Amino acid sequence: MSDQTFYSGLQQKLDTLRSDGLFKPERVLASRQGAEVVAQDGRTLINMCANNYLGLSGDVETQQAAAAALEKYGYGLSSVRFICGTQTVHKELESALSNFLGTEDTILYAAAFDANGGVFEPLFDDNDAIISDALNHASIIDGVRLCKAARYRYANNDMADLEKQLIAATEAGKRHKIIVTDGVFSMDGTIAQLDKIVALAEQYGALTMIDESHASGFMGATGRGTHEHCGVIGKIDIITGTLGKALGGAMGGFTSGKKEVIETLRQKSRPYLFSNTLAPMIAGASLAVLERISKSTELRDRLHENTAYFRAEIERIGFTIKPGTHPVVPVMLFDAPIAQKFAARMFELGVLLSGFFYPVVPMGQARVRVQLSAAHTREQLDFVLKAFEQAGRELDIIKNT
Ligand SMILES: *Cc1c(COP(=O)(O)O)cnc(C)c1O
Repeated sequence: MSDQTFYSGLQQKLDTLRSDGLFKPERVLASRQGAEVVAQDGRTLINMCANNYLGLSGDVETQQAAAAALEKYGYGLSSVRFICGTQTVHKELESALSNFLGTEDTILYAAAFDANGGVFEPLFDDNDAIISDALNHASIIDGVRLCKAARYRYANNDMADLEKQLIAATEAGKRHKIIVTDGVFSMDGTIAQLDKIVALAEQYGALTMIDESHASGFMGATGRGTHEHCGVIGKIDIITGTLGKALGGAMGGFTSGKKEVIETLRQKSRPYLFSNTLAPMIAGASLAVLERISKSTELRDRLHENTAYFRAEIERIGFTIKPGTHPVVPVMLFDAPIAQKFAARMFELGVLLSGFFYPVVPMGQARVRVQLSAAHTREQLDFVLKAFEQAGRELDIIKNT
């Protein structure tokens, strides 16, 4: 406690974040997660900013499955997996995930952040090349940093640039090349062009990896993910994803792929070797979720109906959105102060959503991001659309017709 300049320096940086409008306050909920949430002040809000795509976070069936696993397996293991932290429920979940994703084997992590953080370093070294989309998630960027492989970056979703980087890595004589992309990019709702990526990978002898955090459980006809959506099941080498979004919403992550890959990760992946096992109640609940969405596409169908309805209506009212089909709907406001004012006004009107502006999105691309859920009712969406219309008129974003 003898270096006061350390603390005053931090305070200065925090003050700058505040004055630049970049400070991120925590929103405190007094209720469970869901289509409706209760704020700390007791107000009920319609929630349009959770990754709760299938509505399972606050869902009673999910909760009961967790409770059953809690009852049977206890609260936790106080151990990493390989010492005494593996229970039958963890093996069952790994096998169910492999089945669901169409892969050979799966390894669980405490978070997708850990899955991405621990996937590159055990598999690649300085003889190899990682070719990564410029908009990939922070955890992929960190994972790549922890690995000695050469880094190549291609412009977001730009297949011509990807090919350029593949050529560059080939000419540099790299032994293994791996193309890495988010299956879905969470700021734009853009879906990676996996059919083209797989074709390029075949042409240049490269491996492929996708992060399915915004896709597992609801993309593709049976919800298996972006690889199903793009018709390339069985053609992706490595799939990472989270249990903390659509697939239940508590926490947990996974890496899935060929046996040799997963076995190597079990031996060498540091977040797996040196961090506690996933809580058994989460493993049990995730198993129940996989079973539920494998039996019926009802939740997925409702999510996509809600998405199609909201996308059509918000454009009809006069807002500009990024076109697409994903439940992430960026409503473009372009100007950062307007996006902030808009999100604040929507909060007053009873709608919880997030504004994003530079540097999270490019300059001049400020927006509020809406995320649909299977849990939203038509009435709730109509309420939200009305609030959009009112706030849009007040702030002169849409014309007063
Ligand atoms: C949310 C997210 C993660 C992190 O998931 P956690 O399980 O919460 O650590 C990783 N990758 C992508 C693309 C994400 O959207």
